[in-house]
Amino acid sequence: MILANKVRLKPTPEQESQLWKSADTARWAYNWTLARQEESYRNGKKFIPDRSLRKELTQLKQTAEYSWLYDVSNNVTKQAVKDACDAYKQYFKKLSDKPCFKSRKRSKPTFYNDNVKLKAAEYLPDAAKHINPRVSFDGKYWYLSVGVEREDEKTNWTGEVIGVDVGVKELAVCSNGMVFHNVNKTKVVKKTEKRLRRLQRKVSRQYEMNKEGSRFVKTCNIVKVENRIRLLHRRLTNIRKNHIHQATAAIAKTKPSAVVMETLNIKGMMKNRHLSKAVAQQKLYELKRQLQYKCEKYGIRFTEADKWFPSSKTCSDCGQFKKDLKLSDRIFKCDCGLKMDRDVNAALNLAKLAN
Ligand SMILES: [Zn+2]
Repeated sequence: MILANKVRLKPTPEQESQLWKSADTARWAYNWTLARQEESYRNGKKFIPDRSLRKELTQLKQTAEYSWLYDVSNNVTKQAVKDACDAYKQYFKKLSDKPCFKSRKRSKPTFYNDNVKLKAAEYLPDAAKHINPRVSFDGKYWYLSVGVEREDEKTNWTGEVIGVDVGVKELAVCSNGMVFHNVNKTKVVKKTEKRLRRLQRKVSRQYEMNKEGSRFVKTCNIVKVENRIRLLHRRLTNIRKNHIHQATAAIAKTKPSAVVMETLNIKGMMKNRHLSKAVAQQKLYELKRQLQYKCEKYGIRFTEADKWFPSSKTCSDCGQFKKDLKLSDRIFKCDCGLKMDRDVNAALNLAKLAN
């Protein structure tokens, strides 16, 4: 299997400005590609293959106006065009939403580069082939991530099947009794979010105060506060991601023979206005992604339940269907006498699916 290895880069100031240039160029090429595809779509034409767009870009480079494209490696734009085409293809096949333009402010600076000759490269495992090398910036540091082909680990499985029920109240409840709490309810996250909100209010106040007519002006102080905001966002992301890593590692390390998870319906969950924020913060797709690759690493079978499988409303003991179960019913009670936590009941139902 291919595992990603990520190392922090320690660029010199000159190197860092080159990294920014590459990231900006990649973003520009991505947006240019999306715009070309959309234009073609509006004019009733078909999807433009990325080969033709790359040719078009090469011609553009030769004009004086776009000569700055030569400042970065050719692979940076080439891959950005391919990424945008892939995203558009996914949208055409109705597999994902329409790809968005990347804004300088909101998108994560990232680009493809296969010739990073930076200090960190020496820490990378000495594999024959590095796949898909990407450089990214998380608001504080630059990283290089490469895929490395690894041999699967041999494991003695326990024969157990673990059902994993995920949600908003708890991050994950497993059929073997393991519970992973919602990290967003902890003191440290709540405190950080509070500080973030305070700074966001502060910066919008500063923008109002320094307005020149109808134009907003960015002062040194605003830049400072915006930097602090970015670091707090980064911190929250890291806390959440780390918590998921711990949960998924703990599940995989019990070495079950199989793991069953419900099919995520995030779009459906997000429709509930009162829950949408909590759902987004849980990063359930990230949970699934991590659980999936960690299972693969240990040779554990990973399956997803059918989208319509009523894991919550079925009795895990007698199999009776309880259609009047409300979201507020935390305890599942059945006529057969079963009485247990609703999430544990759901996890037990999921575990049964693998047999
Ligand atoms: Zn029952």
